[in-house]
Amino acid sequence: MMGTEASGAADGRIPVTVLGATGSVGQRLVSLLEEHPWFRIVRLTASERSAGRAYGDAARWVLPSPIPRGVRGTIVDVTEVAGDVPLVFSALDSSVAGPVEEDFARAGAMVVSNAKNHRMDTVVPLLVPEVNPEHLDLLAAQDYGGGIVTNPNCSTIGLTLALAPLHRAFGVRKVHVVTLQAVSGAGLPGVSSLQLLDNVIPFISGEEEKIEIETRKILGSVRGSEVVYADITVSAQCTRVPVVDGHTLCVSVALDGDPSMDEVRAAWADFAALPHTVGLPSAPERPVVYVEEPDAPQPRLHRLLGGGMACSVGRLRPCPLLGLKFVTVSHNTVRGAAGGTLLCAEMLVAQDRVAGVEAPTRP
Ligand code: NAP
Repeated sequence: MMGTEASGAADGRIPVTVLGATGSVGQRLVSLLEEHPWFRIVRLTASERSAGRAYGDAARWVLPSPIPRGVRGTIVDVTEVAGDVPLVFSALDSSVAGPVEEDFARAGAMVVSNAKNHRMDTVVPLLVPEVNPEHLDLLAAQDYGGGIVTNPNCSTIGLTLALAPLHRAFGVRKVHVVTLQAVSGAGLPGVSSLQLLDNVIPFISGEEEKIEIETRKILGSVRGSEVVYADITVSAQCTRVPVVDGHTLCVSVALDGDPSMDEVRAAWADFAALPHTVGLPSAPERPVVYVEEPDAPQPRLHRLLGGGMACSVGRLRPCPLLGLKFVTVSHNTVRGAAGGTLLCAEMLVAQDRVAGVEAPTRP
Protein backbone atom coordinates (compact mmCIF):
# COMPACT_ATOMS: atom_id res chain seq x y z
CA MET A 1 0.00 0.00 0.00
CA MET A 2 1.37 3.38 -0.94
CA GLY A 3 2.53 5.51 1.91
CA THR A 4 3.55 2.58 4.05
CA GLU A 5 5.15 0.14 1.65
CA ALA A 6 8.91 -0.22 1.81
CA SER A 7 11.25 -1.09 -0.98
CA GLY A 8 10.36 -4.70 -1.79
CA ALA A 9 10.49 -5.18 -5.53
CA ALA A 10 7.24 -7.13 -5.65
CA ASP A 11 7.00 -7.35 -9.43
CA GLY A 12 10.72 -7.07 -10.16
CA ARG A 13 10.56 -3.36 -10.92
CA ILE A 14 12.69 -0.86 -9.02
CA PRO A 15 10.78 0.92 -6.21
CA VAL A 16 10.68 4.72 -6.42
CA THR A 17 9.44 7.63 -4.33
CA VAL A 18 7.91 10.74 -5.91
CA LEU A 19 8.38 14.00 -3.99
CA GLY A 20 5.83 16.70 -4.85
CA ALA A 21 3.55 14.14 -6.47
CA THR A 22 0.46 16.36 -6.50
CA GLY A 23 1.77 19.21 -8.71
CA SER A 24 1.96 19.73 -12.46
CA VAL A 25 5.20 17.75 -12.86
CA GLY A 26 4.31 15.27 -10.10
CA GLN A 27 1.11 14.32 -11.91
CA ARG A 28 3.06 13.70 -15.13
CA LEU A 29 5.48 11.50 -13.20
CA VAL A 30 2.63 9.50 -11.66
CA SER A 31 1.05 9.13 -15.08
CA LEU A 32 4.26 8.11 -16.90
CA LEU A 33 5.22 5.70 -14.12
CA GLU A 34 1.94 3.78 -14.39
CA GLU A 35 3.29 1.47 -17.05
CA HIS A 36 7.00 2.07 -16.74
CA PRO A 37 8.85 -1.20 -17.38
CA TRP A 38 11.64 -0.54 -14.84
CA PHE A 39 10.15 1.63 -12.07
CA ARG A 40 7.25 1.19 -9.66
CA ILE A 41 5.90 3.87 -7.30
CA VAL A 42 5.90 2.86 -3.65
CA ARG A 43 5.65 6.27 -1.97
CA LEU A 44 4.11 9.60 -2.89
CA THR A 45 4.86 12.73 -0.92
CA ALA A 46 3.69 16.33 -0.94
CA SER A 47 3.24 19.14 1.59
CA GLU A 48 1.58 18.89 4.97
CA ARG A 49 -1.54 20.25 3.21
CA SER A 50 -1.81 16.96 1.31
CA ALA A 51 -0.27 14.53 3.81
CA GLY A 52 -2.64 11.86 5.11
CA ARG A 53 -5.07 12.34 2.23
CA ALA A 54 -5.74 9.88 -0.58
CA TYR A 55 -3.83 10.84 -3.73
CA GLY A 56 -7.02 11.33 -5.74
CA ASP A 57 -8.38 13.73 -3.11
CA ALA A 58 -5.21 15.76 -2.65
CA ALA A 59 -4.13 16.13 -6.26
CA ARG A 60 -6.22 18.45 -8.39
CA TRP A 61 -5.74 16.23 -11.43
CA VAL A 62 -5.24 18.22 -14.65
CA LEU A 63 -4.06 15.63 -17.17
CA PRO A 64 -6.40 14.40 -19.90
CA SER A 65 -5.83 10.74 -18.94
CA PRO A 66 -7.44 9.53 -15.67
CA ILE A 67 -5.48 9.06 -12.46
CA PRO A 68 -3.77 5.66 -12.80
CA ARG A 69 -5.80 2.94 -11.13
CA GLY A 70 -2.76 1.59 -9.31
CA VAL A 71 -2.25 4.82 -7.36
CA ARG A 72 -3.69 4.00 -3.97
CA GLY A 73 -2.86 4.78 -0.38
CA THR A 74 -2.20 8.08 1.29
CA ILE A 75 0.29 10.85 0.69
CA VAL A 76 3.22 11.08 3.05
CA ASP A 77 4.54 14.42 4.34
CA VAL A 78 7.73 15.19 2.46
CA THR A 79 9.63 15.69 5.71
CA GLU A 80 9.31 11.97 6.47
CA VAL A 81 12.67 11.10 4.97
CA ALA A 82 13.10 7.42 4.26
CA GLY A 83 16.27 5.79 2.96
CA ASP A 84 14.61 2.49 2.09
CA VAL A 85 13.75 3.42 -1.50
CA PRO A 86 16.78 3.62 -3.80
CA LEU A 87 15.44 6.12 -6.34
CA VAL A 88 13.68 9.39 -5.57
CA PHE A 89 12.11 11.65 -8.19
CA SER A 90 11.64 15.21 -7.00
CA ALA A 91 8.98 17.51 -8.40
CA LEU A 92 9.05 19.76 -5.36
CA ASP A 93 8.55 23.47 -5.34
CA SER A 94 11.95 25.15 -5.15
CA SER A 95 11.00 26.80 -1.84
CA VAL A 96 11.50 23.40 -0.17
CA ALA A 97 13.35 21.18 -2.63
CA GLY A 98 16.97 21.97 -1.70
CA PRO A 99 17.30 20.62 1.86
CA VAL A 100 14.70 17.87 1.36
CA GLU A 101 16.59 16.43 -1.60
CA GLU A 102 19.85 16.58 0.37
CA ASP A 103 18.20 14.69 3.24
CA PHE A 104 17.10 11.89 0.91
CA ALA A 105 20.56 11.78 -0.74
CA ARG A 106 22.19 11.56 2.70
CA ALA A 107 19.82 8.75 3.58
CA GLY A 108 21.37 6.84 0.66
CA ALA A 109 18.92 7.49 -2.19
CA MET A 110 19.75 8.65 -5.70
CA VAL A 111 17.64 11.76 -6.20
CA VAL A 112 16.70 12.99 -9.67
CA SER A 113 15.34 16.51 -9.32
CA ASN A 114 13.34 18.91 -11.45
CA ALA A 115 13.89 21.80 -9.06
CA LYS A 116 16.43 24.53 -9.65
CA ASN A 117 18.08 24.36 -6.22
CA HIS A 118 21.05 22.08 -6.96
CA ARG A 119 21.37 22.55 -10.71
CA MET A 120 24.36 24.83 -10.51
CA ASP A 121 26.19 22.97 -7.70
CA THR A 122 29.70 22.20 -8.89
CA VAL A 123 29.48 18.44 -8.40
CA VAL A 124 25.84 17.99 -9.42
CA PRO A 125 25.24 16.83 -13.01
CA LEU A 126 22.76 18.96 -14.97
CA LEU A 127 21.78 16.14 -17.24
CA VAL A 128 20.22 15.82 -20.68
CA PRO A 129 21.07 12.16 -21.27
CA GLU A 130 21.40 12.53 -25.07
CA VAL A 131 23.67 15.54 -24.69
CA ASN A 132 26.02 15.18 -21.73
CA PRO A 133 25.88 11.66 -20.21
CA GLU A 134 29.57 11.96 -19.29
CA HIS A 135 28.60 14.62 -16.70
CA LEU A 136 27.41 11.74 -14.51
CA ASP A 137 31.09 11.25 -13.64
CA LEU A 138 30.62 14.23 -11.28
CA LEU A 139 28.73 11.90 -8.94
CA ALA A 140 32.05 10.44 -7.80
CA ALA A 141 32.85 13.80 -6.16
CA GLN A 142 29.59 13.96 -4.16
CA ASP A 143 29.71 12.93 -0.52
CA TYR A 144 26.02 12.40 0.17
CA GLY A 145 26.11 8.62 0.36
CA GLY A 146 23.40 8.55 -2.28
CA GLY A 147 23.48 11.30 -4.89
CA ILE A 148 21.73 14.19 -6.62
CA VAL A 149 21.27 14.58 -10.37
CA THR A 150 19.25 17.44 -11.82
CA ASN A 151 17.01 17.83 -14.82
CA PRO A 152 17.44 21.27 -16.45
CA ASN A 153 14.88 24.00 -16.83
CA CYS A 154 12.10 22.98 -19.24
CA SER A 155 13.05 25.48 -21.98
CA THR A 156 16.75 24.73 -21.65
CA ILE A 157 16.20 21.03 -22.36
CA GLY A 158 14.61 21.74 -25.76
CA LEU A 159 17.23 24.34 -26.55
CA THR A 160 20.20 22.12 -25.72
CA LEU A 161 18.76 19.16 -27.64
CA ALA A 162 18.62 21.37 -30.74
CA LEU A 163 22.03 22.97 -30.10
CA ALA A 164 24.03 19.87 -29.12
CA PRO A 165 24.29 18.39 -32.64
CA LEU A 166 25.34 21.81 -33.95
CA HIS A 167 27.85 22.30 -31.16
CA ARG A 168 29.38 18.87 -31.84
CA ALA A 169 29.52 19.36 -35.61
CA PHE A 170 30.51 23.03 -35.90
CA GLY A 171 30.74 24.81 -32.54
CA VAL A 172 28.05 27.21 -31.28
CA ARG A 173 29.26 30.72 -30.47
CA LYS A 174 26.17 32.87 -29.87
CA VAL A 175 22.53 32.10 -29.22
CA HIS A 176 19.54 34.40 -29.04
CA VAL A 177 16.30 32.74 -27.97
CA VAL A 178 12.76 34.00 -27.47
CA THR A 179 10.52 31.53 -25.65
CA LEU A 180 6.73 31.14 -25.84
CA GLN A 181 6.09 29.01 -22.78
CA ALA A 182 3.02 26.96 -21.96
CA VAL A 183 0.91 27.53 -18.89
CA SER A 184 1.56 24.06 -17.40
CA GLY A 185 5.13 25.25 -16.88
CA ALA A 186 3.88 27.65 -14.22
CA GLY A 187 2.80 24.79 -11.92
CA LEU A 188 -0.45 24.56 -9.95
CA PRO A 189 -2.48 26.69 -9.57
CA GLY A 190 -0.17 28.68 -11.88
CA VAL A 191 -1.12 31.77 -13.82
CA SER A 192 -4.76 32.83 -13.52
CA SER A 193 -6.96 32.70 -16.62
CA LEU A 194 -7.74 36.41 -16.22
CA GLN A 195 -4.03 37.16 -16.55
CA LEU A 196 -3.32 34.85 -19.45
CA LEU A 197 -6.33 34.54 -21.77
CA ASP A 198 -6.15 36.97 -24.72
CA ASN A 199 -2.66 37.86 -23.58
CA VAL A 200 1.11 37.27 -23.60
CA ILE A 201 3.10 37.87 -20.44
CA PRO A 202 6.68 38.94 -21.23
CA PHE A 203 8.17 37.91 -17.89
CA ILE A 204 8.84 34.60 -16.12
CA SER A 205 10.78 35.10 -12.94
CA GLY A 206 14.35 33.81 -13.13
CA GLU A 207 13.77 31.96 -16.40
CA GLU A 208 16.03 33.99 -18.68
CA GLU A 209 18.96 33.70 -16.28
CA LYS A 210 18.44 29.92 -16.02
CA ILE A 211 18.45 29.43 -19.79
CA GLU A 212 21.53 31.59 -20.21
CA ILE A 213 23.66 29.75 -17.64
CA GLU A 214 22.26 26.19 -17.75
CA THR A 215 22.85 25.95 -21.51
CA ARG A 216 26.54 26.67 -20.97
CA LYS A 217 26.86 24.07 -18.20
CA ILE A 218 25.11 21.33 -20.20
CA LEU A 219 27.19 21.97 -23.31
CA GLY A 220 30.36 22.24 -21.23
CA SER A 221 32.87 19.48 -20.58
CA VAL A 222 33.83 17.68 -17.39
CA ARG A 223 37.36 18.27 -16.18
CA GLY A 224 38.16 16.44 -12.96
CA SER A 225 35.31 17.11 -10.56
CA GLU A 226 33.87 20.17 -12.24
CA VAL A 227 32.35 21.36 -15.50
CA VAL A 228 34.15 23.80 -17.74
CA TYR A 229 31.26 25.84 -19.12
CA ALA A 230 30.92 26.10 -22.88
CA ASP A 231 32.20 29.39 -24.25
CA ILE A 232 28.85 30.41 -25.72
CA THR A 233 27.05 33.74 -25.33
CA VAL A 234 23.36 33.10 -24.69
CA SER A 235 20.67 35.77 -24.57
CA ALA A 236 17.11 34.74 -23.65
CA GLN A 237 13.76 36.52 -23.57
CA CYS A 238 10.91 34.53 -22.02
CA THR A 239 7.17 34.88 -22.41
CA ARG A 240 4.15 32.97 -21.10
CA VAL A 241 1.46 32.27 -23.69
CA PRO A 242 -2.03 30.73 -23.51
CA VAL A 243 -0.94 27.23 -24.59
CA VAL A 244 -1.56 24.31 -22.22
CA ASP A 245 1.56 22.18 -22.93
CA GLY A 246 4.63 22.65 -25.10
CA HIS A 247 7.24 25.38 -25.13
CA THR A 248 8.04 27.05 -28.47
CA LEU A 249 11.50 28.61 -28.89
CA CYS A 250 12.52 31.03 -31.66
CA VAL A 251 16.29 30.64 -31.88
CA SER A 252 19.05 32.50 -33.75
CA VAL A 253 22.56 31.04 -33.70
CA ALA A 254 26.09 31.97 -34.72
CA LEU A 255 28.06 28.83 -35.62
CA ASP A 256 31.76 28.35 -36.31
CA GLY A 257 32.72 27.65 -39.91
CA ASP A 258 29.63 29.12 -41.56
CA PRO A 259 27.97 25.75 -42.40
CA SER A 260 25.25 25.57 -45.04
CA MET A 261 21.63 24.89 -44.13
CA ASP A 262 21.97 21.39 -45.61
CA GLU A 263 24.93 20.69 -43.34
CA VAL A 264 22.97 21.92 -40.31
CA ARG A 265 19.99 19.74 -41.19
CA ALA A 266 22.33 16.78 -41.65
CA ALA A 267 23.80 17.39 -38.19
CA TRP A 268 20.31 17.15 -36.66
CA ALA A 269 19.38 14.11 -38.76
CA ASP A 270 22.61 12.28 -37.83
CA PHE A 271 22.30 13.01 -34.09
CA ALA A 272 22.53 9.51 -32.65
CA ALA A 273 22.35 9.55 -28.89
CA LEU A 274 23.42 7.08 -26.21
CA PRO A 275 19.99 6.66 -24.50
CA HIS A 276 18.40 5.13 -27.59
CA THR A 277 21.52 3.17 -28.51
CA VAL A 278 21.60 1.46 -25.12
CA GLY A 279 17.84 0.85 -25.17
CA LEU A 280 16.55 3.09 -22.37
CA PRO A 281 12.74 2.75 -22.22
CA SER A 282 11.98 6.49 -22.35
CA ALA A 283 14.52 7.36 -25.05
CA PRO A 284 13.02 8.62 -28.30
CA GLU A 285 14.43 6.97 -31.40
CA ARG A 286 15.26 10.43 -32.74
CA PRO A 287 15.75 13.11 -30.08
CA VAL A 288 15.67 15.89 -32.69
CA VAL A 289 13.07 15.69 -35.46
CA TYR A 290 13.11 18.20 -38.30
CA VAL A 291 9.57 18.99 -39.47
CA GLU A 292 9.36 20.23 -43.05
CA GLU A 293 6.06 22.09 -43.20
CA PRO A 294 6.54 25.85 -43.59
CA ASP A 295 4.35 26.59 -40.55
CA ALA A 296 5.87 23.94 -38.24
CA PRO A 297 6.62 23.13 -35.47
CA GLN A 298 3.53 23.98 -33.43
CA PRO A 299 2.87 22.92 -29.82
CA ARG A 300 -0.53 21.36 -30.48
CA LEU A 301 0.74 19.33 -33.43
CA HIS A 302 4.28 18.42 -32.46
CA ARG A 303 4.64 18.35 -28.66
CA LEU A 304 3.94 14.60 -28.55
CA LEU A 305 6.47 13.53 -31.17
CA GLY A 306 8.56 10.65 -29.86
CA GLY A 307 6.07 10.12 -27.05
CA GLY A 308 6.62 13.72 -25.94
CA MET A 309 10.37 13.11 -25.62
CA ALA A 310 11.58 14.49 -28.97
CA CYS A 311 12.42 18.09 -29.74
CA SER A 312 10.80 19.23 -32.99
CA VAL A 313 12.77 21.69 -35.08
CA GLY A 314 11.67 23.58 -38.16
CA ARG A 315 11.80 26.81 -40.14
CA LEU A 316 15.58 26.77 -40.59
CA ARG A 317 16.53 29.89 -42.52
CA PRO A 318 19.22 32.56 -42.73
CA CYS A 319 19.40 35.11 -39.90
CA PRO A 320 20.79 38.53 -40.87
CA LEU A 321 22.09 39.05 -37.33
CA LEU A 322 23.66 35.71 -36.28
CA GLY A 323 23.70 33.52 -39.40
CA LEU A 324 20.89 30.99 -38.94
CA LYS A 325 17.53 30.87 -37.20
CA PHE A 326 14.98 28.15 -36.49
CA VAL A 327 12.02 27.25 -34.27
CA THR A 328 11.73 24.39 -31.76
CA VAL A 329 8.87 22.83 -29.81
CA SER A 330 9.25 20.45 -26.89
CA HIS A 331 6.80 19.20 -24.29
CA ASN A 332 7.59 21.00 -21.06
CA THR A 333 6.13 18.58 -18.52
CA VAL A 334 7.19 15.43 -20.43
CA ARG A 335 10.55 16.09 -22.11
CA GLY A 336 11.17 19.19 -19.99
CA ALA A 337 10.37 17.57 -16.65
CA ALA A 338 8.80 14.17 -15.85
CA GLY A 339 9.88 12.23 -18.93
CA GLY A 340 13.33 13.80 -18.71
CA THR A 341 13.53 12.71 -15.07
CA LEU A 342 12.74 9.12 -16.02
CA LEU A 343 15.34 9.17 -18.80
CA CYS A 344 17.97 10.48 -16.37
CA ALA A 345 17.05 7.74 -13.89
CA GLU A 346 17.15 5.06 -16.58
CA MET A 347 20.64 6.23 -17.54
CA LEU A 348 21.75 6.09 -13.90
CA VAL A 349 20.42 2.56 -13.54
CA ALA A 350 21.88 1.41 -16.88
CA GLN A 351 25.28 2.67 -15.75
CA ASP A 352 24.98 0.92 -12.34
CA ARG A 353 25.09 4.23 -10.50
CA VAL A 354 22.21 3.54 -8.08
CA ALA A 355 23.29 1.70 -4.94
CA GLY A 356 21.67 -1.69 -4.50
CA VAL A 357 19.95 -1.61 -7.89
CA GLU A 358 20.83 -3.81 -10.82
CA ALA A 359 20.16 -2.71 -14.38
CA PRO A 360 17.21 -4.66 -15.78
CA THR A 361 18.18 -6.98 -18.59
CA ARG A 362 17.01 -5.64 -21.90
CA PRO A 363 15.71 -7.77 -24.74
P1 NAP B 1 3.61 22.73 -8.61
O1 NAP B 1 2.50 22.34 -9.54
O2 NAP B 1 3.47 23.99 -7.86
O3 NAP B 1 3.82 21.52 -7.57
C1 NAP B 1 4.67 21.65 -6.47
C2 NAP B 1 4.69 20.39 -5.62
O4 NAP B 1 5.50 20.69 -4.46
C3 NAP B 1 3.32 19.95 -5.09
O5 NAP B 1 3.28 18.54 -5.01
C4 NAP B 1 3.27 20.55 -3.69
O6 NAP B 1 2.47 19.79 -2.77
C5 NAP B 1 4.72 20.44 -3.28
N1 NAP B 1 5.03 21.45 -2.24
C6 NAP B 1 4.83 22.79 -2.31
N2 NAP B 1 5.18 23.36 -1.14
C7 NAP B 1 5.62 22.37 -0.34
C8 NAP B 1 6.12 22.31 1.00
N3 NAP B 1 6.25 23.43 1.75
N4 NAP B 1 6.48 21.12 1.50
C9 NAP B 1 6.36 19.99 0.76
N5 NAP B 1 5.88 19.96 -0.51
C10 NAP B 1 5.53 21.15 -1.05
O7 NAP B 1 4.98 22.83 -9.39
P2 NAP B 1 5.45 22.07 -10.74
O8 NAP B 1 5.16 22.89 -11.93
O9 NAP B 1 4.95 20.68 -10.68
O10 NAP B 1 7.01 22.09 -10.58
C11 NAP B 1 7.69 21.25 -9.65
C12 NAP B 1 9.17 21.55 -9.72
O11 NAP B 1 9.64 21.25 -11.04
C13 NAP B 1 9.50 23.01 -9.49
O12 NAP B 1 10.69 23.12 -8.78
C14 NAP B 1 9.58 23.58 -10.90
O13 NAP B 1 10.39 24.73 -10.97
C15 NAP B 1 10.19 22.41 -11.66
N6 NAP B 1 9.88 22.31 -13.09
C16 NAP B 1 8.61 22.48 -13.54
C17 NAP B 1 8.35 22.31 -14.91
C18 NAP B 1 6.97 22.45 -15.50
O14 NAP B 1 6.85 22.41 -16.74
N7 NAP B 1 5.91 22.62 -14.69
C19 NAP B 1 9.38 21.98 -15.77
C20 NAP B 1 10.67 21.81 -15.26
C21 NAP B 1 10.89 21.97 -13.92
P3 NAP B 1 0.98 20.26 -2.34
O15 NAP B 1 0.08 19.91 -3.49
O16 NAP B 1 0.71 19.45 -1.13
O17 NAP B 1 1.04 21.72 -2.09
